[in-house]
Amino acid sequence: MTAELIRDLWFPTDRCFIAGHWTPPVGDESLPVENPSTGAEIGRIAKGRAADIDAAVAAAENARRGAWGRATAAERGRVLARIGQFVRGRADELAGLEATDVGKPRTQARADAMALARYMEFYGGAADKVMGETIPYLEGYTVYTLREPHGVTGHIIPWNYPMQIIGRSVGAALAMGNACVLKPAEEACLTALAFAKLAEEAGLPPGALNVVPGLGEEAGAALTAHPGVNHISFTGSLEVGRLVQAAAAQNVVPVTLELGGKSPQVVFADADLDAALPFLVNAGIQNAGQTCSASSRILVERPVYNAVLARMAERYRALKVGQALDDLDVGPLISARQKEVVEGFLAKGADLETAAEGTVLGDVPAGGHYVAPRLMAQVPPDHGLAQDEIFGPVQVVIPFADEDEAVEIANGTGYGLVASVWSRDGGRQMRLARALRAGQVFINNYGAGGGVELPFGGTGLSGHGREKGFEALYGFSTVKTVAARHG
Ligand code: NAD
Repeated sequence: MTAELIRDLWFPTDRCFIAGHWTPPVGDESLPVENPSTGAEIGRIAKGRAADIDAAVAAAENARRGAWGRATAAERGRVLARIGQFVRGRADELAGLEATDVGKPRTQARADAMALARYMEFYGGAADKVMGETIPYLEGYTVYTLREPHGVTGHIIPWNYPMQIIGRSVGAALAMGNACVLKPAEEACLTALAFAKLAEEAGLPPGALNVVPGLGEEAGAALTAHPGVNHISFTGSLEVGRLVQAAAAQNVVPVTLELGGKSPQVVFADADLDAALPFLVNAGIQNAGQTCSASSRILVERPVYNAVLARMAERYRALKVGQALDDLDVGPLISARQKEVVEGFLAKGADLETAAEGTVLGDVPAGGHYVAPRLMAQVPPDHGLAQDEIFGPVQVVIPFADEDEAVEIANGTGYGLVASVWSRDGGRQMRLARALRAGQVFINNYGAGGGVELPFGGTGLSGHGREKGFEALYGFSTVKTVAARHG
């Protein structure tokens, strides 16, 4: 994509969005926007700092006390549904922006835009359906609970799925009546700003959503440490997640941590391999493997190990890597740094067997961050490539002997985000669904097409708290118990 695209947008890219205004950052500094497909700088975004976060938190607090705080649940739902319509109407432009900013193939970027619309519809419809309880208690008492917003919620998101993560966290927070401060990732801010503009046009009151782009260690750290923030939703790396939780502890505020994963798909000999194959590979290479729920470990029962590996290898050899707007199987990685990280992992696996590789097209721009997808065979479960999150298009295939060993290997990393079981045996499906350590377990599928409605989140090093589905509405609210003694 060209520099023209970023000049002719329907919102300013180099501002913060605070209290309904497009505001230059206090320090008047900016950060580059890089197109990962070419390595070229295609524009600038604001470099917000602590002072901008202060202004955004104050604006959110005003909104909470003002029009947004007074809106009924049904009114909030109507605004969210309208935002969803506006997003749908701009889906192609949003997809073009995301493809250019993140480097993901256009079809995948469009799916993200549609998911953002769907989140707004889902949370718009759910806003007035979250209810409290009445609790039978002592003679002469009436006791009930109120579900109340936390107040000001901070949202720190990564670059890999900006639209989807805005949808699931900001969408649910707004539905419950919170006012939000969003700090998008410095590598990919454009659709967050576009979303703020669409939300404003759809009638979201000023201050209900504020966006402050900037560096993690400045704007992000200022948001997590801010005493005016009542809940923090963080999606990103384990390393930063630990910092965020520590900062939140100082203010004693709740935190949702959506961190990384090393998610397994477990394939038994009785599985429908034709059905499994597309899921096995796509779940590893989607968004060039830069997906928290990427399935980077494929565990295969020994009798079908060679057959599964051969079929995956065939698929890998057909994979084409190129510019995001060419819409091939795989785009570039987000940055030169991420490419270095992935190549570092591959160097550590130099002693392992490479079963197959995809192809980076010969005409890709030299400045783009391309890595050929790689399938590794016979990887020992304790090898670094089978333990650490690579965040690139690399999958390892590991043999297992029986159900017990499958569970032991699948649960044998610190992470626990997603897992799947491929088998025709109903009893085994149920046993594995319980035994696998993960926030989501899929049976004879993987990812369920995104699943706006399905609670999502981790155990162990993958984090805690749940987003998506109704569960997120409980996370973005708190319970007040009212006990009335009336005799
Ligand atoms: P990252 O942790 O480096 O950055 C994420 C966000 O945190 C960015 O907005 C960044 O600016 C901000 N940040 C950085 N330092 C900060 C600090 N000191 N204080 C506050 N904020 C700070 O992660 P990344 O490299 O952008 O994303 C990749 C990671 O995110 C992977 O580990 C991936 O698994 C994870 N991820 C998880 C999910 C999920 O839902 N579980 C989804 C997407 C990505």
